[in-house]
Amino acid sequence: MRSSYPLLAEVADFLDATLRIGEIPDYPNAVNGVQVANDGEIERVACAVDFSTAAIEGAIKAGANLLIVHHGMFWGGVEPLTGHRRNRLRMLFTNDIAVYAAHLPLDVHPELGNNVLLAQQLGLEPSGGFARFQNIDVGVTGMSDVPTRTLADRARLFAEQHGGSLVSTPFDANRVTRTWGMCTGAGADSSTLREAARRGIDTLIVGEGPHHTAVEARELGIVILYAGHYATETLGVRALADAITTKFGIPSVFVDAPTGL
Ligand SMILES: [Zn+2]
Repeated sequence: MRSSYPLLAEVADFLDATLRIGEIPDYPNAVNGVQVANDGEIERVACAVDFSTAAIEGAIKAGANLLIVHHGMFWGGVEPLTGHRRNRLRMLFTNDIAVYAAHLPLDVHPELGNNVLLAQQLGLEPSGGFARFQNIDVGVTGMSDVPTRTLADRARLFAEQHGGSLVSTPFDANRVTRTWGMCTGAGADSSTLREAARRGIDTLIVGEGPHHTAVEARELGIVILYAGHYATETLGVRALADAITTKFGIPSVFVDAPTGL
């Protein structure tokens, strides 16, 4: 008799198609899609921003046999399977937990994506793409008429709800954000700043970025709000897990494991 639970292959097919895993380019270590298989059935889903011991423990506690992450298990590159890396695999195999990773395909998704959902959270309405990577726009951009201070307050609140904090380049109290650009995660770099300057973007909202981006931003008259890598990427995995619940009728949980960054 066939149980009513979907198989990993069915859930993976749904995710691959929804996220266009085969079409969206990414960094080599992202390894989008199924990273670890289980014996088959998926009764419950857990999602987390990062593949970590804490995420696996959360999945075990929730009785999940699929863990969905934004930053997968190969993020740090090729490493020996010793110590905590070996333990993580043992925990997965012992508890029959599969792992599915979705990096840029999740950042860019028009409904479930980190960028679209963060814009919504901050009361911004995207009108186009931003942060070019190969043939895709990873982030979003739009027009607004909101005081930069208000935007910073919203971003601070959001960051603090996820164990982080807001870092901002200095700006005048009466400054208004007219054109904004957003790229979650490590969104501030020389390339996004160049693109922002070229496109007349006055406020950049990102997760994090190297110090030189703050120096360059001031020279360019751009304000950068760094709302935290972790915080800005909590929304996509949750939306994706919710989509699985809607599609297959199986419950899902978010495992919150803030990095502080
Ligand atoms: Zn990231």
